[in-house]
Amino acid sequence: MTDMSDDRTALDRARDDFRAEVLDAGLLVDAGEPGLYGRSGVFDDLVDRIAAFASTGFAELGAERLRFAPVFPRREFERTDYIVSFPHLTGTINGFVGSEADHKSLVTARAAGEAWDSWLSPAETALVPAVCHPLYERLSGTIPGDRVYDLRGFCFRHEPSNDPMRLQAFRMQELVFVGDPDAAHEFRTVQCERQLRGLVELGLDARLQPANDPFFGRTGRFLARNQLADEAKLEVIVPIYGDLDEGTAVASGNRHGEHFGDTFGILLPDGSAAHSTCLGWGLERIALALIRTHGVDVAAWPADVTRLLAPAP
Ligand code: ATP
Ligand code: ZN
Repeated sequence: MTDMSDDRTALDRARDDFRAEVLDAGLLVDAGEPGLYGRSGVFDDLVDRIAAFASTGFAELGAERLRFAPVFPRREFERTDYIVSFPHLTGTINGFVGSEADHKSLVTARAAGEAWDSWLSPAETALVPAVCHPLYERLSGTIPGDRVYDLRGFCFRHEPSNDPMRLQAFRMQELVFVGDPDAAHEFRTVQCERQLRGLVELGLDARLQPANDPFFGRTGRFLARNQLADEAKLEVIVPIYGDLDEGTAVASGNRHGEHFGDTFGILLPDGSAAHSTCLGWGLERIALALIRTHGVDVAAWPADVTRLLAPAP
């Protein structure tokens, strides 16, 4: 039987080694906090090409392209209930709106090496945790029929880690279906398989697996069990560290049921709440999984992979 503490150490070492490898190759630049990186031109191009590969592979869905900032209204953040399920991943924004006297106190505290954050107060914004979250409020009201959106942007999740696969700020590409319940269900089933096939074509040793989100606390464990039992979330898993862990999710397909439709008042013509489904690609994770598979010298990757990832004409 394997000793768990040895296992953890070996996994930690494997993560450190991979991190060192991508930093030494100059693909990522340490940006000073665990899970925070600068990207080289080669890495950034790779991310763009993966995003384009993901979008064009689904072009016939006629998705409407929308791009939002990585910051969105705090009141919309509150409506998603993210703070209830994932308080440990949340990032909100504080600003200074005090008087000159308050500012003086802040500066004095700072000069004395003390905490100065208490002079800040919550701003009207929060960091976007999933690129679809700024969309839903925009759809509030009656939608004429099924819609698909193509979204891309930076997400923030507060999960500092030495694992280069786990970032605090990362880019996500999503296809979001909003509309009829059966069609939302079907969208996930069909498109998730295609998502998997695309990633396998790129040479990844990927498989599809039911999964759960990292809900917080005891109630969270209950929610996670339900999500697994319903197969509401499927993940595309790639082994990055051999059999030292269960593999890493590089993409996912999530059925939300009527959660967002109900919360944001997105209604079908018959007055019922629209259902939604997200197909998400973790762009840095896919880039790193490809680097793990084909090597740090991106220019020397197999021609068939490079061809699939060719920049759009
Ligand atoms: P939903 O819209 O249902 O809330 P989602 O599809 O938008 O969920 P997730 O399934 O949580 O979001 O994440 C999508 C993908 O983003 C994951 O499969 C993964 O590849 C990537 N991802 C998630 N967290 C991180 C992270 N900390 N660092 C890097 N990539 C991440
Ligand atoms: Zn989403």
